Amino acid sequence: MPYSTEIQTQSAPAEWLETTYPIMEHFHTIQGEGVHTGKSAYFIRTGGCDVQCWWCDVKDSWDESKHPRITVRHILENIKLYKPAFVVITGGEPLLHNLDDLTTGIRSLGLPVHIETSGSSAISGRIDWVTLSPKRFKKPTEEIYEFTDELKVVVLTAKDLQWAKEHAARCRPGTRLLLQPEWDTPKSIPLIVDFVKENPEWGVSLQTHKFLQVP
Ligand code: SF4
Repeated sequence: MPYSTEIQTQSAPAEWLETTYPIMEHFHTIQGEGVHTGKSAYFIRTGGCDVQCWWCDVKDSWDESKHPRITVRHILENIKLYKPAFVVITGGEPLLHNLDDLTTGIRSLGLPVHIETSGSSAISGRIDWVTLSPKRFKKPTEEIYEFTDELKVVVLTAKDLQWAKEHAARCRPGTRLLLQPEWDTPKSIPLIVDFVKENPEWGVSLQTHKFLQVP
């Protein structure tokens, strides 16, 4: 679908425009991680996360009640101010929320919908690119693997490499496989480099937005 500056409500009343979501922040930036690194992207960070990784760098997102509920209409009006290549829904844990109406809205602009999720809640919405980043603290559902386009595993210790292989074995053929060090835990970088050199089906993802100093 070509990019459109109009919200295409078709003939039916677009009730989904008034659906609200708890939103921590939404902004235009550069996708810093994963397969689509370096592309113009609009990020929507939903509030609420029940996974609670100790190393999380967005702990302010955890409490859903701290974030205002914003309509799909308002979010779309903001997206229209920019020229992103796609929209990324992240969190928090975005699959805590039913994403049907938000993704319908984004797609009405002709923009692909990406999601970054731990996969720990049921999938919803019409999503073009699913990045699964599994977490030990609340494991993914069985269904998420059949929708996963990109598996991105954060590596802190050697144990995480085995964890990564276990999840890769559940993914569809062709799923992109990436290992990522956290910005604050660079000690895992040599582990990742050695692993990828020995396992060429895997690649490295870096948090390049932190290098670029963009959100
Ligand atoms: S799943 Fe994501 S948002 Fe939730 S605690 Fe872990 S890193 Fe943070």
